[in-house]
Amino acid sequence: MRRISILGATGSIGQSTIDLIRRDRESYDVVALTGGRNIEQLARDAVELGAKLAVTCDPGLYASLKDRLAGTGIQAAAGDAAVVDAASRPADWIMSAIVGAAGLLPGIQAIRQGTTLALANKETLVAAGPLVMAAAKTQGARILPVDSEHSAVFQALVGEDIAAVERIIITASGGALRDWPIERLATATVAEASTHPNWAMGQRITIDSASMFNKALELIETREFFGVDPARIEVLIHPESLVHALVGFRDGALMAHVGPSDMRHAIGYALHWPERRDLPVERLDLARIGTLTFRAPDPMRYPALRLAQAVMQAGGKSGAAFNAAKEIALDAFIEGRIGFVGMAGLVEDVLDKMWSSDGLNRAPNNIEDILETDRLARRRASDFLAISA
Ligand code: NAD
Ligand code: MG
Repeated sequence: MRRISILGATGSIGQSTIDLIRRDRESYDVVALTGGRNIEQLARDAVELGAKLAVTCDPGLYASLKDRLAGTGIQAAAGDAAVVDAASRPADWIMSAIVGAAGLLPGIQAIRQGTTLALANKETLVAAGPLVMAAAKTQGARILPVDSEHSAVFQALVGEDIAAVERIIITASGGALRDWPIERLATATVAEASTHPNWAMGQRITIDSASMFNKALELIETREFFGVDPARIEVLIHPESLVHALVGFRDGALMAHVGPSDMRHAIGYALHWPERRDLPVERLDLARIGTLTFRAPDPMRYPALRLAQAVMQAGGKSGAAFNAAKEIALDAFIEGRIGFVGMAGLVEDVLDKMWSSDGLNRAPNNIEDILETDRLARRRASDFLAISA
């Protein structure tokens, strides 16, 4: 029996992970599930999977989670520290699927126990890539990418020498607004930005797909995970979302990963790695699909991509500030405080200020440095919003 835990079990990735576990219940011993406010779901899944521990990040929900688990023998806990504690419970495989910077400390805690970490939370590598990769090395932990593009690159690299890689291309659908005239983007509403053409995902990542902040995070994630020079990482718009990434080698070969737009493929690959097992995903009929199309992203439409390149060039703690400012910008857009194009403006302003006055390009000494940068960037972003209100 493999001992597994799922951090962010009630979210989109967490539920897809549970869907795979449920089909093969006898193979897994579920240690901990964590979630947020949806404690009904959390409790239901904990009972169904026979988890030892269920944790909500919201301390105010402790009593009602405990009530729901009364008589089941499942331990209830609440609060950020309890989520981190869940990640430290011994397990053979831990899914990191909390959304945002909140996933950083639990992910690092999982690495500290030298486990296999299936990493969906891209913010972990964006904010603290070098520290996280170094910790994994020291602790003998293995990180397996779950983001579909990175899983695709990882799969295309099996048996290959990373030194023979000339470039990595990650694809992007272009998001909900990709065919809008550029002048109209400023008027896009939250609802309009929240419908993804191909993938069913959480609302935040769907809006981040429309703005390409998601792809910007993924560029940084690619650099940190595979250790390639930023100049060798490219983005291609591929509206069909079937080719997830391509790896270009020095002999001119391009290895493409083609598969259905279903996160259970990447989750299942990480779950069964290094084996491949049957997965309940659609088998593509390429003859029926007929055509796959690609085009270069328009830099004017997607300023987030330019900002990601600047962040990678600057290095140091820039990724942490970029991610934090992006989270505040996204909150502000969802709350109607700024428009769709205002998000990139806000992030750029925060980065410019912090590059000129906060030593953002100096390397972090430790995770506390990263958390401090995250807090400072959030303050700077809030100041910007207060001034522009
Ligand atoms: P989601 O919003 O659907 O779920 C997030 C989970 O995190 C929920 O369980 C929620 O309760 C929990 N959570 C939220 N705030 C928390 C906090 N402060 N502390 C502890 N837990 C908290 O998100 P998702 O779409 O499943 O994405 C999860 C992560 O995976 C993100 O980093 C996202 O970028 C990445 N990812 C998602 C997809 C996708 O298809 N959904 C694809 C690739 C990568
Ligand atoms: Mg992705």
